[in-house]
Amino acid sequence: MDIWELFKKWNAVKKTSSNKNVKVEDLFGSSNNVKAIKTTINSDLNIGSYWDKKEDWFLISLVNDMFLNAIKMRASDIHIEPNEKDINIRFRIDGKFINYQNLDLKHKDSIIARIKIMSYLRIDEHRLPQDWKIAYKLFWWKQLDMRISVIPIIYWEKCVIRLLKKDSKPPELKDIWIMPYNMVKLKKHLQDNFGMILAVWPTGSGKSTTLFSLLSQFDPKEKNISTLEDPVEYRIPWVNHTQINPAIDFTFARWLRSLLRQDPDIIMVWEIRDEETAKLAVEASITWHIVFSTIHTNSATHTIQRLVNLWVDPLLITSSLRMIISQRLARKLCVHCKIQYKANDKIKEYIVWKVGKYIKNKEELILFQANEAWCDKCNHTGYNWRIWLYEILEITDKLEALILNNASRLQLEIQAVWDWMVPIKDDWLLKVILWETSLEELLSVLWT
Ligand SMILES: [Zn+2]
Repeated sequence: MDIWELFKKWNAVKKTSSNKNVKVEDLFGSSNNVKAIKTTINSDLNIGSYWDKKEDWFLISLVNDMFLNAIKMRASDIHIEPNEKDINIRFRIDGKFINYQNLDLKHKDSIIARIKIMSYLRIDEHRLPQDWKIAYKLFWWKQLDMRISVIPIIYWEKCVIRLLKKDSKPPELKDIWIMPYNMVKLKKHLQDNFGMILAVWPTGSGKSTTLFSLLSQFDPKEKNISTLEDPVEYRIPWVNHTQINPAIDFTFARWLRSLLRQDPDIIMVWEIRDEETAKLAVEASITWHIVFSTIHTNSATHTIQRLVNLWVDPLLITSSLRMIISQRLARKLCVHCKIQYKANDKIKEYIVWKVGKYIKNKEELILFQANEAWCDKCNHTGYNWRIWLYEILEITDKLEALILNNASRLQLEIQAVWDWMVPIKDDWLLKVILWETSLEELLSVLWT
């Protein structure tokens, strides 16, 4: 297929596609065709005056192929790491590394230089770290938003490229694996007139899609909804998204103070990191605003202590906080290759002990596990996409009393479970029973 045929196909796909967002898969169909088409594209594009030598062309194709495959394989990050023997390029997909390619060490200078030129970094700087955010046009039809970071290491320079996704719309609440017992709590608190809803997760386990899905439950034409984010990832029509810029010293706290003069109903502050933001967010939620935010902690009860550590008065915490959503990501079993098996007596006993009340047929428990043998669809990992695990803590009267008495985390935890909080481990066990993920995956997520 030559370039004009591809162009025609692109236009045809664009016309027939309802959302106008053309996917790589729409163009290339199955993975078998990719190789042939890519070669044609590479020879027609990137006619840069810098790149005249044969080796340069080789590198341009190599880097473009790397991006193309990263998109196709849904990678979130690309790592280019020179080591003693070669250059290792690997992708992070669904939180785990997959080895993409090993290159001869002689290319270490040129590949890093190519990335630096693309991203307007200094190519003569090899001693200091550099980073930059760019929108790179990969061929004429695909724009990639990337954050590029280069740091010197003993074997030259290591480059990490984060591929930022600008999703137009957050997913619906029903599509993010919220179990009925948690959905009831969420829906209830979306009716509140004021208060704070926090989402928490350990560092590195994903952005808070849940928070944006909750936010999109409100009608932005009826309410003034404003957000402070870094970076802005979802765009909801009629919502005022603001990108924080720490470079010009405009921090969350300073923005929040200004935002409160904008007559908001609902505010989303991307992250509470410091005392000032914590206090402002809590005060805003008491004075008839609904505040959504996130804190990096490990669990729902840990969050209460974190707020106390940020010097927020426990009395203010109890009057503002409505709900804490603690979440983790786990890999979803690949639907094309997962293997069915019968749980042995020990596993069955454990599952029935933990979540038996939700199971009808306790005699024969069928589960699924990953199959790493043959499947192309999941890059031979047995997993494809991710699912969320939740623990939703509602601030009940009894919990309020405990918070005011500076209770320990354990006391808070026990009371929360007593007040119908379903612990995150039980939530995952139920998702294992529902065949969404495996016991192995969840053991690796929750016990690391
Ligand atoms: Zn598979």
